[in-house]
Amino acid sequence: MNSNPVTIDGSVGEGGGQILRSALALSLATGRPFRMENIRAGRKKPGLLRQHLACVKIAGQIGRAHVEGAELGSTTLVFEPNGCFGGRYEIQVGTAGSTSLVLQAVLPALLFADGPSELVVEGGTHAKSAPPFEFLRDAWMPQLARMGAQVETRMERAGFFPAGGGRVYVRVEPLKDPKPLDLVDRGERTAVEGLAHVARLPRTVGERELAVVRTRFGWDDASLRVKEHQSAGPGNALVLRIAHEHVTEVFVAYGAVGIPAEAVAKRACRDARNWMKAEAPVGVHLADQLMLPLALAAGGRYRAVGMTPHARTNIDTLALFLGETIVAEPVDGGVDVRVPPRWA
Ligand code: ATP
Repeated sequence: MNSNPVTIDGSVGEGGGQILRSALALSLATGRPFRMENIRAGRKKPGLLRQHLACVKIAGQIGRAHVEGAELGSTTLVFEPNGCFGGRYEIQVGTAGSTSLVLQAVLPALLFADGPSELVVEGGTHAKSAPPFEFLRDAWMPQLARMGAQVETRMERAGFFPAGGGRVYVRVEPLKDPKPLDLVDRGERTAVEGLAHVARLPRTVGERELAVVRTRFGWDDASLRVKEHQSAGPGNALVLRIAHEHVTEVFVAYGAVGIPAEAVAKRACRDARNWMKAEAPVGVHLADQLMLPLALAAGGRYRAVGMTPHARTNIDTLALFLGETIVAEPVDGGVDVRVPPRWA
């Protein structure tokens, strides 16, 4: 196995936190140390923010790693793991840093750990520009399960921007018999759900959002519900879930001061409608998040509605560690992504 150190320029491509999270997962799973410079150089406030630091810390524990540069604002990181060790790990991201993104930085590697793991991550379960908890549970993890993974999760408390305070539990078993993924069509639609999370705000905020969903999509009342939370602070998220035989997609929009509930709902509906109108099964976010677990396991192919800069940058990061190249090829109705297996 190649154990040469990898050097990564964090300013290339998308230039954000995803390059770091992918590097951590890849380093843990392959045992290859890395040095990353110009971390998040493409962002207004470069360097490690709380969420990224939480990723480095939990990955460092899992890998019993030698780490340099694990400080807020740091733009250089050295990460040298000594293995990938199952166990129980807990981390607080602080404020509303995304629990999903922290989990995604280590969960794919834990599929290759020396034993089962339990993770508890506290922070924002519904944080802007990140997968909401339901996306992780209903869109991403079921595809890992189709690859042979045994992963279960539950949200023990919801946490919203800016106060956070949410809590997510995950249990991961080492992957015994990896199977290639083949996801080129959705299959029949099996269920839909509109879920309006409301924390320390009037229930009517959620009811107004669901009224928009009912009007736009004609979903019946049984599939629409408001869930009230006593979270650390106020918050609102509208989550739309569309389940098909072979894939489930999840769309979200977040409430914010000064934005009417109807406008929030329209945003979530627009994203959901764009996916419904397309044919490919894999939406833009799932497209950038599936390739890493696939590349570490038995590979496979999937058809995405399109490729984002996040997806293209992830292909480059994966190539640095694995040497193999993921091919993304335009086809009728989307882009076919072919991921070579790690163990051919
Ligand atoms: P920064 O961009 O500030 O560096 P970051 O570390 O939070 O911050 P990115 O590198 O931008 O993150 O990565 C964000 C990740 O979250 C991507 O994988 C993207 O697909 C995913 N994501 C963003 N919004 C959603 C959403 N609505 N549903 C699912 N996934 C999402």
